[in-house]
Amino acid sequence: MDPLLRDAIMKSPWAWALVVALGLAVGSFVNVLIWRLPREESILRPRSRCPGCGSCLRWYHNIPAISWLMLRGRCAFCRAPIRWTYPAVEVICAGLFVAFFARYGPTVSTLAFWYLAAILIAVFFIDWEFQIIPNELTYTALVVGLGTSFISPHITWVQSLTGAAIGFGGFLGLAYLGRWLFKKESMGGGDIKLAAAMGAFLGTWKILLVFILSAAIGLAISLVVMAFSASLRKHRIIPFGPSLALAAIVAGFWGQEIIRFYLAHFVGQ
Ligand SMILES: [Zn+2]
Repeated sequence: MDPLLRDAIMKSPWAWALVVALGLAVGSFVNVLIWRLPREESILRPRSRCPGCGSCLRWYHNIPAISWLMLRGRCAFCRAPIRWTYPAVEVICAGLFVAFFARYGPTVSTLAFWYLAAILIAVFFIDWEFQIIPNELTYTALVVGLGTSFISPHITWVQSLTGAAIGFGGFLGLAYLGRWLFKKESMGGGDIKLAAAMGAFLGTWKILLVFILSAAIGLAISLVVMAFSASLRKHRIIPFGPSLALAAIVAGFWGQEIIRFYLAHFVGQ
């Protein structure tokens, strides 16, 4: 892209406002995915309803984040509480849209990372609650990741393909290792497919970084859960998907710097 045009776009407050609006709107759709995919409901057909009273939401009840605040977190019809995760997902999505736009500018890479971010937010919340990662999310992400690599300025299709292969093979290996070490399923097929999809967006080096980061984040989450919640500790396993999702966001945003820092300080390049 012409550098002058790029500069003009990055300096325009309208461009940033548009990115925020788009992030909120996509976040609103991610909420639909989070509710409907694990319940195997259609993501397109019926309009949004209150799970408490079944009333259809009006358009002005559906404005991302703002409606939730105006209604003070309750359904307009039956006053049943609406989960705080709804506005949280929308705000997180808008935040990540802004962050990746700041990072990659008006390029295809930004579009690719917006897509990845939306998928990862959905994975984070669905896997945390249901311990599943829907194939609908991972398969489409793999296709989009590989497809955009052909036109993205920040990754080649070779890097994308090797990233996907490393993600798949590496986590498949870890799953076998985990089963052998702990004599139980430590990582599911969903985690492996997700790692392959993330590799397609991140490429060879950043997916390797995801291995290390996700292990560290997973350990941190386990420690926090064990420290603060006796009931969680007893009754459920902690899924690995949320750690993978967080690791991929960090690698997608700061991967370059982290890898460069590592090479400079520990490999002596
Ligand atoms: Zn209601």
